[in-house]
Amino acid sequence: AFSGNRNWQPVWRTPEPKPHYDVIIVGGGGHGLATAYYLAKEFGITNIAVLEKSYIGSGNVGRNTTIIRSNYMLPGNEPFYELSMKLWEGLEQDFNYNAMVSQRGIVNLIHSDGQRDAYARRGNAMRMHGVDAELLDREQVRKMMPYLNYDHARFPILGGLLQRRGGTARHDAVAWGFARGADMRGVDLIQQCEVTGIRRENGRVTGVETSRGFIGCNKLGLAAAGNTSTLGRMAELDLPIESHVLQAFVTEGLKPVIDNVITYGAGHFYISQSDKGGLVFGADLDAYSSYAQRGNLATVEHTLEEGVALIPGLSRVRVLRAWGGVMDMSMDGSPIIDRTPIDNLYLNCGWCYGGFKATPASGFCFAHLIAKNETHDVSRLLRLDRFERGFEIDESGKGPQPN
Ligand code: FAD
Repeated sequence: AFSGNRNWQPVWRTPEPKPHYDVIIVGGGGHGLATAYYLAKEFGITNIAVLEKSYIGSGNVGRNTTIIRSNYMLPGNEPFYELSMKLWEGLEQDFNYNAMVSQRGIVNLIHSDGQRDAYARRGNAMRMHGVDAELLDREQVRKMMPYLNYDHARFPILGGLLQRRGGTARHDAVAWGFARGADMRGVDLIQQCEVTGIRRENGRVTGVETSRGFIGCNKLGLAAAGNTSTLGRMAELDLPIESHVLQAFVTEGLKPVIDNVITYGAGHFYISQSDKGGLVFGADLDAYSSYAQRGNLATVEHTLEEGVALIPGLSRVRVLRAWGGVMDMSMDGSPIIDRTPIDNLYLNCGWCYGGFKATPASGFCFAHLIAKNETHDVSRLLRLDRFERGFEIDESGKGPQPN
């Protein structure tokens, strides 16, 4: 900075696309970049292109509310998200980049006896998987978060489920860390390159049509989050994914007041404080399908109502910015990392509102699948055909789980 930012070298190259790659990954979001990073680092495949229609980090990886956690309950999810948490714990050393991983703890608030039972069950399931979980009573919650509305609340706070190892990570630094690590190992990160078609011959993918011409490949991986169904259609795949907008908000900077992540169990509101001091929060989806990266005022009002119901003092704070991202909503709220009916086409999607925390494990398992053509053990239930076989992983039916 003392040089006036002159002579700073770009952190990754800007290569021209080659005519052919061993592997092409569509989507320069967290999952696409992590996949390329692990393919190169763990599986020795470096002739890879990541094709991004905009710039690296322009999608949900740079738009989320940065929460990481592994407080899931069901067998298909819990081991997968716990692998992700373990990878987060070593990530900054692994890719040698400061991603500001902060294990400040996450508390899911409890507002009814039934919800306490549901969270006790979730906590027990976590502990049986060797994951940390603590059930808090009302006084323990009050001691940790005295600024919440305890006395005149429509939905009184009765306790909380705490995962101390949960927390936050600086979202765009995660994208940059994976991008730099992949680029250093020879991966071509090709920005402003939109995939517009998937070319196939004899039932196999031969490459992709793009805004920069045709690029051939031996294997194609889709990691396009909210645009997955559009890409699926290019290969005549009708995928069980709907795209919806999720909004987020940040306030003016305040002195430290919220030192963990809090989720409101009587609604869908959640909040944390960024290291810069802004309160970062969000709530429900805009309920209509959309590919726009912005939402509507009804959800803004709804979000702020929930926020003020939980933290009355929030009504005095100014919101600085709001934005939206396009969520790839699967029908059971759980992700898909799998092959497709097309031999050399692989699919990574269905992250709903919760894919940021999954970034390292998703990249690792998708790289494993692409490199070995074998599913990694922790992602073995995240299959595409689970809906037709009746093996949904209905995590959302097991108690509220925002972000
Ligand atoms: P993206 O960053 O969206 O990457 C996909 C990329 O594909 C995009 O860059 C897009 O431009 C590119 N692309 C699409 N189509 C094409 C094409 N045809 N050709 C080339 N490139 C293409 N998750 C959490 O775990 N914790 C949270 O706190 C959390 N909060 C959230 C809050 C908000 C407001 C939002 C929007 C999301 C939140 N999420 C959260 C969800 C999380 O951000 C996503 O699930 C995750 O980032 C999706 O994976 P990704 O990073 O690879 O997606």
